[in-house]
Amino acid sequence: MTQPALIPIAGEEPRPGSRAARMRQPLAKEALRQLAENNGVCVRPVVLRRTDTFTGVTEIVEVPCGATLATKCKPCAERGRRLRIQQIREGWHLADEPAIDPDPPTAAVLDLVAHRAHLEFDREAANYEPMTPDERVAQVAGLDEAIEQVDDLLAETNLRGHLTPRDRDERPRRKRSTKRRQDSPDLPRLPVDGRTVGRAYAGREGKTYRPSMLVTLTLDSHGPVHSHIRRGSYVAPCECGTRHGQYDPKLGTPVNPDAYDYRRAALDAIHFARVMDRWWQNLRRAAGWNVQYAGAVELQRRLAPHSHFAIRGTLPRRLLKQIAAATYHQVWWPPFDRATYSVDKPPVWDADQGGYVDPKSRTLLPTWAEALDALGETDAEPAYVARLGRIDARGIDSGTKDAERAIHYVTKYVTKDLTEHAAPKTDPQRAHFDRLHAELSTLPCSPSCANWLLYNVQPDGAKAGLTPGRCTGKVHQRTTLGFTGRRVLVSRQWSGKTLADHRADDRSWVRAVLAGGLADTEESPSATEFDSPKRFRFEMARPDDPDVLPLEHRVLRAVSARIRWRQQLATAQANLAPQQVAA
Ligand SMILES: [Zn+2]
Ligand SMILES: [Zn+2]
Ligand SMILES: [Zn+2]
Repeated sequence: MTQPALIPIAGEEPRPGSRAARMRQPLAKEALRQLAENNGVCVRPVVLRRTDTFTGVTEIVEVPCGATLATKCKPCAERGRRLRIQQIREGWHLADEPAIDPDPPTAAVLDLVAHRAHLEFDREAANYEPMTPDERVAQVAGLDEAIEQVDDLLAETNLRGHLTPRDRDERPRRKRSTKRRQDSPDLPRLPVDGRTVGRAYAGREGKTYRPSMLVTLTLDSHGPVHSHIRRGSYVAPCECGTRHGQYDPKLGTPVNPDAYDYRRAALDAIHFARVMDRWWQNLRRAAGWNVQYAGAVELQRRLAPHSHFAIRGTLPRRLLKQIAAATYHQVWWPPFDRATYSVDKPPVWDADQGGYVDPKSRTLLPTWAEALDALGETDAEPAYVARLGRIDARGIDSGTKDAERAIHYVTKYVTKDLTEHAAPKTDPQRAHFDRLHAELSTLPCSPSCANWLLYNVQPDGAKAGLTPGRCTGKVHQRTTLGFTGRRVLVSRQWSGKTLADHRADDRSWVRAVLAGGLADTEESPSATEFDSPKRFRFEMARPDDPDVLPLEHRVLRAVSARIRWRQQLATAQANLAPQQVAA
C-alpha cells in the first residue's frame, strides 16, 4: 500500500520532518524566557562574587538585574512598577513628616561604588586609546551598559539619590558670571520652611480631609497637530477642520509639516529635564514649603515629552499657572541657530594645528572656550530658552478610587522605553517621527557634542575622529527622541523610603506568613544581606569564571526555586487562620 504524496498547500501544516516544520517548532530559548517570565524570575540575573570576610569563603550569588524596561527583563520591570505604585501610594497623602536620618554607606555599597569608579575611568581612557572611531563607539557603548548595570544594582541598595548628575556631558567646565546665570523669574518668593506634608482640613462629622494634587506638565505647541477632540459624546473639529476619529492615521502629526517648528520641538525635548528642575525650584520658593512629588515622564502622541506628578498637599491653581508661565531654562551655549557646515562637508582635523579646520581654507575653528568668551559677559543672549507650556492640576483625596486610578495612570508606561509607547503606527506618524529625529541628529546635545563642528565651533575637549551627525549621545537616539533625563522622578522626602525599603516591606509580609521558616530564600542576597555591615564583600563575577554556570542553567534553577518557594508559601498561608494574615 503506497502512501499518498504529501503536497504542501499554502496555509496547511508543513510536512512533518521537513525543514519548514522544524522552523516552526518553538525555540528552547524562548521557552526558557517565557517560563521565567511566568514565574516572575529575572531573565538576566547579575552574577556577583561574595566573599565572607569572616571565613574567607567566596561564592557566586545572583541578584535580579533590576531592569526598569520590560524589553530588557519583564519580571524585574513589572516588579519595579509595582514598587513605584506602592511608593507613590505611601507618600502621596502622608500626614506626618517622613523620618530622615541617613546611616553611613556599608562596605558592600562602597565596593559597588568603587567598581563604578573603575568603569568611569575606563570610559574616559577609551577616548585616548588608539582605535578607529567605530571601535571607540562600540567600546564606549559597552562601558555605558556596564555602568548602567552597576547603577541599577546601586538602586537596589539602600543608597539614596544618585551617584552622578543626570546628564553625563553637562559637567560645567567653566564658571559663568553670576550676571548671566538663570535670572529669577517674576514670582512670589517666600523663605522655604522644612514642612513637606500638606494641610489637613476638617470636614463634616469630625472627618479630616487631606487633599493632594495630580499635576501634568506639558511643553508648548510648535504648530497645530491633528487631534481627536472629544467633548462628552461630541467630537469637535480639529484645527484642520476635520472631525478625527480615535484611530485616525494622522493623529499627532502636524497640520502643516512645513510650518511645524521641528527645531524648537527638538530643543524643548532636549532641555525638558532642566525645565522640570526649574519648575520644582520655582514652585517651592513660591509655595514657601518643601513640596514633595513623585511622577513619570512620557511622550505625547505629537512626540513631545510631558509628565504627570502626584504632589503632596495642595496649592492654589492660580499660583500653579503663574509659576508655569514664569518657568524657563536658558541654554548658555554659543549660538547654533544657523549651520555653517553640512554633515557631507564638515570641518576636518588638522594634526599640525591640533584642532578642527575649515576643509578649504584650513583656518582653525574657534575652540569651545573661545566661543564662550566671544559671547561677552553682560550683553549676551542665551542660545536657547526652553519654556514650560501648560500645566493641568486637580485635587485628589486620600484613599479614594480616584487616587488609585491616578497612581496607575502616572506609572502606566514606566516599564517601556519613552518612544515605545508612542511608536508611530501609520505613514504620516512615521514621517513625523523621522523628521523630528533628523532634526535631533544635527543639534548639539552637550558642550562636547561633535555636532558643534557644523556651527563653526570646536566641541569642548575636541579630538580627532569626531563626525558631526554621528554623535553617540543619547539625545540623538530614536529611543529617546531628545529626552534623556530620568523617567521616574521622586523627590527625596516623598515616602521617607527608598525602593529597597519598599522591597523589604514586601518581604517582611512574606516572612510573617512563613513564620521564620523560609525567611530569606525568596531571592539570593536579600536587601538586608546586601547592606549587612562589613561581613560580606561583593564584586562583579566574570562570566568566564569557572564557577559561574551558563545563564540558562542559572535561570532554570531560579525558576525551580521560585516554584517551590511559592508552594511552601501557599501551604503556610493555608495553615494560618484567616484572621492571622496581615492585611
Ligand atoms: Zn531582571
Ligand atoms: Zn486635523
Ligand atoms: Zn551629541
